[in-house]
Amino acid sequence: MPTKYVVVLGSLMSGLGKGVVNSSLLKMLDFYGYNALPIKFDGYLNYDCGTMNPYRHGEVFVLDDKSEVDMDFGIYERFLNKDMTGDLSITGGKLFGAVINKERRGEFLGADVQIIPHLTNEAISMIKKVANTRKPDVIIIEVGGTVGDIENSYFIEAVRQLALEEKTVFINLTYSPTMEVVGEQKTKPAQLGFRMLLQSGIIPDFVICRSNKELKENTAEKLAMFSNLKKERVIDDSDLQSMYMLPIHFMKQGFDKLLIKELELEERSIDNDKLKEWNQKINRIENPKKKVRVAVVGKYTGLKDAYASINEAFIHAGVENDAKVEIAWIESTELEEKGTALLNGVDGILVPGGFGNRGIEGMICAIKYARENKIPYLGICLGMQLMAVEFARNVCMLNDANSLEFDADTKNGVISLMSSQKEIENKGGTMRLGAWKCKIKNTNTLAYNIYKSELIEERHRHRYEFNNQFREIMEHSGLLISGTTIDEKLVEFIEWKDQFGIGTQAHPELKSRLENPAPLFVEFIKAALENTKSRI
Ligand code: GLN
Repeated sequence: MPTKYVVVLGSLMSGLGKGVVNSSLLKMLDFYGYNALPIKFDGYLNYDCGTMNPYRHGEVFVLDDKSEVDMDFGIYERFLNKDMTGDLSITGGKLFGAVINKERRGEFLGADVQIIPHLTNEAISMIKKVANTRKPDVIIIEVGGTVGDIENSYFIEAVRQLALEEKTVFINLTYSPTMEVVGEQKTKPAQLGFRMLLQSGIIPDFVICRSNKELKENTAEKLAMFSNLKKERVIDDSDLQSMYMLPIHFMKQGFDKLLIKELELEERSIDNDKLKEWNQKINRIENPKKKVRVAVVGKYTGLKDAYASINEAFIHAGVENDAKVEIAWIESTELEEKGTALLNGVDGILVPGGFGNRGIEGMICAIKYARENKIPYLGICLGMQLMAVEFARNVCMLNDANSLEFDADTKNGVISLMSSQKEIENKGGTMRLGAWKCKIKNTNTLAYNIYKSELIEERHRHRYEFNNQFREIMEHSGLLISGTTIDEKLVEFIEWKDQFGIGTQAHPELKSRLENPAPLFVEFIKAALENTKSRI
């Protein structure tokens, strides 16, 4: 059967959770055993989001194949428990780049190259390439931004044209605000958004409506009437305790059956075991038996999206430990000013990844506090590099130890650039990226106890590395190097002895899923829970 398409468009404003909606649709279809793949379009002219500031755009997500993609890919993977690939991410930058390259090669000789049809055709051909090579039953296309934006206008035109050739279902994601004083759910903004969509030549087959409380009968009726739809095609997407409940919430409204029918997919029955397992996980999110409090000491804590994967990895690890993980987001610059009093009462400390000088000393201070007070510590990428710096300074007594990223002149650059990185001039896509295999020492190491394997694979995104010149002195002073690349050239894991303190050069949070939580996070939370007990 040819691939069918679903297009999710936001017609009112951004931030309505299109990524969660798309992932929930994918999950719904997955429960029936259909092979459904997402495609995400982002209108910016960057080739990918690798060069963007996480403070503005949210976390940069990395896939096995080295692609640096929008954080929504993290949501797709966490819901589907499947690895995504870079060809599923289409950006304005990729489209314009491809068209201009073709023009230079002379592929459009004689023509004046235009948005329509050249750019729109390029978009359609990128979408169809995924369909032709991967042959999924369904592709669900998420259009970034809002209908009416200049940035996505030509892509919306492309999907309108796609629908002329292929079975395509359009979904309008909108929002109904409630006026607190009268408690009334308003539909006028949604009506205006709907009108914008009509101007693009698109008539939606379904409306999904975000709101803070469940849609009232008359709100749904009004939305249906103004959208030329039956009421059953207006789907409630009101606030839920956890985003992982949304597929089930949709299915309770019969959305799964309606969508499958509309897509004219062959009939299949639902996999009840899969569904049961998902429901059990959700139940454990809703009803935790224990509570644990961990600090994340970082430099982008003002925007939670900057650490989306860490936040989710904690939810998954919490489920595994039957615990609710409370996160104290601590801005490292604030810790520099106010000191470690900010860490009072936390059961574990995590220092996440990051770039640039700001807040580094605050993170080192938190790491020292964890080591000296035997508080479970997990260092991720930058958090591992600073664990090495702290150890070099305070245990090996190399007072000016630092990463060369922050002090290019120090004699004790315990974190330095690989020679292959020194020659790099282009910043885009040139870090150590994607999945890397790692060899783990099996003798009495935390890493082995956690992963229970001598060969693992995690995702990376960094330029700097542990400086091998310092391996001996650090090991001599008691630092454990418990994991390296297969050729042993690059250090991947370091540990403190006799306490839960571990740093990894990788980003294990990127592979954590509700159905397959990251072992490092699971064990870190377990250690933090034990730490809670020891404090009581
Ligand atoms: N800035 C460090 C590097 O480039 C760490 C990067 C990170 O934490 N992802 O190596």
